[in-house]
Amino acid sequence: MSLNNSLNTIKDEIDKKAKIVVVSKTRSKKEILDIYNKDHRDFGENKVQEILEKHEKLPEDIRWHFIGHLQTNKVKYIVPFISLIHSVDSLKLLKEINKRAKVKNKVVNCLIQVKIANEENKYGFKINEISDVLSYASELEHILIKGLMGMATNTDNNNLISKEFKLLNTEFKRYKSEIFNVLSMGMSNDYKLAIDNKSNLIRLGSIIFGGRK
Ligand SMILES: *Cc1c(COP(=O)(O)O)cnc(C)c1O
Repeated sequence: MSLNNSLNTIKDEIDKKAKIVVVSKTRSKKEILDIYNKDHRDFGENKVQEILEKHEKLPEDIRWHFIGHLQTNKVKYIVPFISLIHSVDSLKLLKEINKRAKVKNKVVNCLIQVKIANEENKYGFKINEISDVLSYASELEHILIKGLMGMATNTDNNNLISKEFKLLNTEFKRYKSEIFNVLSMGMSNDYKLAIDNKSNLIRLGSIIFGGRK
C-alpha cells in the first residue's frame, strides 16, 4: 500500500467526524507534495525554521498549522501566513501573537493548549486556568480563540488516554460556540480514542508517512 492510501483509508474510516492535520515535521517537500496532490491542504509543523522554509517553497494554498511549543521571539515569522496555532501555552505568548497580528492588520486563529497528560514534559495550561485564559484572550482584538488542544499521556493504557480526552471534551463543551468549535486531540496512536471522545481535529504523522527517525 502506498503512503497516500493510508490517508484516504483513515478519511473513510473516520467518516467526516474529524478533520485531519497531516503532521509533516521532518518530512521532505516531495513527501508533502505527494499528499498535497491527493487534495489534502492542512499540514502541521512544530519548528519555526522548518515551517518557514516549507511555506516558502510549497504551494500557497496549503493551510499551515503550528503544533509545537512556540517561542515568543519567533512569533513574528509565522503570523503572516499561519492558519491555526494549536499550541498557545502562556499569556505572554498570546500577548505577543496579538501584538504581531496587529502589526500585520490581521486576526490569528489560536487554540489553547491544555495539559491533560500526567507527564512532566508536556506544555499547556491547567484545566482550572482555561476560563481565565479565555477572558484574557477576549480582550485581544487580533486573536480569535477557536478551541482547545491537548495531548494524552504516551501510554498503551487506553483507559487513561480516554479519561484524559474525556476531561478535555468536558471543558470544551463548557465554552463551545459557533466560533469556539475546534477540539484538537488525537495522534497516530490514539486518534480513535480521541474521536470517540468527540475530537474534531486529529494530528497524524507517522501513520501517514511511516515512523520518524
Ligand atoms: C509529532 C506530533 C504529532 C504527530 O505524531 P504522530 O505520532 O506521528 O502521529 C501530533 N501532535 C503533535 C503536537 C506533535 O508534535
